[in-house]
Amino acid sequence: MHRAVRASSRTGLLFIDLDHFKAVNDGHGHAVGDEVLRQVAERLRAELRAGDGVGRLGGDEFVVLVEQLTSEAALVELAERTAASLARPFTTSAGEVVLGASIGVVVEGDGATDASALLNDADSAAYRAKASGRGRVEVFDDDLRAELAQAAQVEADLREALAADQLVLHYQPVVAAADGRVLGYEALLRWQRPGHGLLGPDAFIPVAERTSLVCDLDRWVLGTATRQLASWVADGSAEASTTVAVNISGRHLVDPSLVDDVEAALAASGLPASSLVLELTETVLVSRPLAGSQLDRLRALGVGVSIDDFGTGYTSISQLQDLKADTLKIDKSLVWAESAGAAELVRLVVHAAHAFGMVVVAEGVEDEAQLARLREAGCDEVQGYLLGRPGPRPSAPAPAPAPRSSRG
Ligand code: C2E
Ligand code: CA
Ligand code: CA
Repeated sequence: MHRAVRASSRTGLLFIDLDHFKAVNDGHGHAVGDEVLRQVAERLRAELRAGDGVGRLGGDEFVVLVEQLTSEAALVELAERTAASLARPFTTSAGEVVLGASIGVVVEGDGATDASALLNDADSAAYRAKASGRGRVEVFDDDLRAELAQAAQVEADLREALAADQLVLHYQPVVAAADGRVLGYEALLRWQRPGHGLLGPDAFIPVAERTSLVCDLDRWVLGTATRQLASWVADGSAEASTTVAVNISGRHLVDPSLVDDVEAALAASGLPASSLVLELTETVLVSRPLAGSQLDRLRALGVGVSIDDFGTGYTSISQLQDLKADTLKIDKSLVWAESAGAAELVRLVVHAAHAFGMVVVAEGVEDEAQLARLREAGCDEVQGYLLGRPGPRPSAPAPAPAPRSSRG
């Protein structure tokens, strides 16, 4: 970079993060992973001019340093060529594997010579490329800089929010499909952010998920939801059998603290483990290798496990039996789809889930037609604006006790 300043030329950096490399290592072993890394290096060299630098930072991350850059466009073009080259299959001793790469591009600002800042910016751009769908090229520009600054602010404010009592839970009833009895609630996080009003989780959970902050949030939610349900049971506004469902982020599921956090919340509230349901998305359950053993420990405590957003990931019905869940939650996109095919798919999913002993919940139920279709498909429980919107207190009074025959 000092050389570039002296020659008044510019330097560019590509940060290359391989997609799906972990799957190769996990599926074929490290020797095959190493073969792939060597081939990646060869392909990178083939794209470069003599004098450009290519290095491996570690794991599946490579950097390319381009000196005497003619234009940013030329660097983007190089990045795109590189992405195309790495998208071609690799031939290994275990057969063909396909990876692809997410690439961050950064051009050094005028006279800037802070190498670690440059690397950091390129890394951020690559992260963004990965987040927006993999196999892509993303340039670090003023928009991204502003976005990262904003995210950093959200993160800092959120840490304070935890201490300053700005977080609240809203509860949405989960009711029996047959007769509308309230069986439990899903706890949904809200942030009363000064100057911004009441924010929904989509405005801050993605930021929190970049660090272990999301585990702190989940821990707060676990503690608060169990304490509040216990108080409703105590004052008679909820039946003793009422459950509360809490969303757990993928990062928390692989954090060894989760089991302790759940135990602590149950002990502090005095609720039985059977009152607590943990919602985990199917993508998290299928893609996180550590998830299985943590799940075993949670289930040993007696808490319920629910597969959230089912139908948005790539789980095949045959995988359901390996997921070790008690409940399957059909995603709202599937509830809203009106085609005959979608209706058939819902029936199939309900049928398979029942065969594996799971209770089926459908979320996002907004009208009577959807409710009728779900009942007809054999769905056990429903949740959605039609039956109750999320709110600060249980939105329906607890009805008279009745036998819960529809619960698996
Ligand atoms: P989710 O778990 O799929 O939660 C359901 C979302 O659908 C909620 O949005 C809920 O308000 C909304 N919803 C419920 N019924 C209907 C309906 O009939 N129609 C429509 N259009 N929407 C409906 P919300 O509260 O904004 O939560 C969004 C996502 O944020 C949740 O999706 C969940 O993934 C995440 N989340 C919420 N609370 C927490 C939390 O405490 N911890 C973590 N880690 N994630 C959370
Ligand atoms: Ca959920
Ligand atoms: Ca959901």
